[in-house]
Amino acid sequence: MKKNDLVEVDIEDMSDNGEGIGHADGLTLFVKDAVIGDRVLAGITKVKKTYCYARTARVLEPSAYRTEPRCPVYRPCGGCQLQNLDYKKQLEFKTRKVKNCFQRVGGFKVAEGNLSGGECNNSIDNRADNIAGAIANDVLYNSPENNKNVITVKDTIGMDNPWNYRNKAQFPIGMDGEGRPVAGFYAGRTHSVIPTSYCAIQFEGHEEILEKVLGYISQSGESVYDETKNKGVVRHILMRKAEATGEIMVVLVINGKKLRDEKSFVDCLKDIPGMTSIQLNFNTKDTNVILGNQCRVLWGKEYITDKIGEISYQISPLSFYQVNPVQTKVLYETALAYADLTGTETVWDLYCGIGTISLFLAQKAKQVYGVEIVPEAVENARANAKLNHIENAEFFTGAAEEIYIRKKLPADVVVVDPPRKGLDEELVNTIAKMKPERIVYVSCDPATMARDCRRFADNGYRVNKVQPVDMFGQGGHVECVVLLTKVHE
Ligand code: SAH
Repeated sequence: MKKNDLVEVDIEDMSDNGEGIGHADGLTLFVKDAVIGDRVLAGITKVKKTYCYARTARVLEPSAYRTEPRCPVYRPCGGCQLQNLDYKKQLEFKTRKVKNCFQRVGGFKVAEGNLSGGECNNSIDNRADNIAGAIANDVLYNSPENNKNVITVKDTIGMDNPWNYRNKAQFPIGMDGEGRPVAGFYAGRTHSVIPTSYCAIQFEGHEEILEKVLGYISQSGESVYDETKNKGVVRHILMRKAEATGEIMVVLVINGKKLRDEKSFVDCLKDIPGMTSIQLNFNTKDTNVILGNQCRVLWGKEYITDKIGEISYQISPLSFYQVNPVQTKVLYETALAYADLTGTETVWDLYCGIGTISLFLAQKAKQVYGVEIVPEAVENARANAKLNHIENAEFFTGAAEEIYIRKKLPADVVVVDPPRKGLDEELVNTIAKMKPERIVYVSCDPATMARDCRRFADNGYRVNKVQPVDMFGQGGHVECVVLLTKVHE
């Protein structure tokens, strides 16, 4: 196979980037613009040792699962990799992805259902080529215990309405050809902003806010940030909406310390129903990280308040908060059920953010300790405990791996919810040494989660339940809750 060759291929699966995956001539093909079930004529664009990249030259037989994307800029935006795939199929894809990770990265035997030619990130390093290589080579974890541990992965719990679900939007601000400010998304790996203020998965009302902010920028003559020169003032707009209370927060991220006309900026937003907090965030660094470390409130409160189940949460701009409120409730309820608390337990919640899971657990535990690295989030967590009159939750600021390892406190249940890179090996070992009866692992990256579950399995734990939850409809990511239980010899 060489560049520009045309081959017929059946698309069997999809990658995280939304490419169709098929096989031809003993090679794995990653085909742009193809979905599961398509038969396409693929034009080879790049050849590697065991796999190729290709584009769809022609759809020979369209898949029954193809759907018309709702969003006109769905392809160049790239935020929703699966918008052209039927939602039910999206959920199947996600379940299979989790199964593949447990099998290939974790070295577990996954009961029922076949392991198709699917994809999996076998590396904690996210480079496309590495992942593609691992998939193509069908890398399997080589453990002597391989196949001994049979686990089941449940079907992914989907959303009733997989649209307009996000409670947080971040739009970069740029200029159009005529020098007018626009909001949108970065085109590919460029610095130019493709204008669009509509996003099909965002909360309703986000467009109106964007239009008002753009109106302010035009009117005040505020300059727009230019990434290539690190010059200009307005960089991003961050918006958050609390689903349960309707409270809205708008944060303008600026390269500088103040706006030309802060009063007009506030005036154009403050009467929007639900507006609760208008803030500036200062980011003067030459970086693609969106938020700087400091904010200033221009109007209203420092935070918005949301409610999940019975618990209220205050959320500030710098704190992590799940983006899909409806499914977050499902996720936390699953975690709580897996923790199986009776009221006598000591629980550690590592990577606790603003204490969301901790406070959910505190309702049923004797004592909960949370650990979180972002100081503002810990402040929120403490305030949230007070707000809900919860007295059996205590929070520590710092790295989970340092605090938990240093304190070495016994626990009946440990909950972890780490970022994509998963857990430090030393942290896994320390948790295992503390011998909690149950470990509840919440994760947004099934590959690193499967790797860590293998480490727990090699240290006296059994993977008891695996429940994927769809928090990111139309996108390729999947969230998971896993219950690990102590094996008593
Ligand atoms: N459980 C929370 C937050 C999960 S996101 C919720 O569901 O809302 C992961 C959190 O881990 C983030 O708040 C992030 O700031 C925090 N974090 C990242 N690295 C960390 C580390 N090394 N130690 C402790 N917390 C960390």
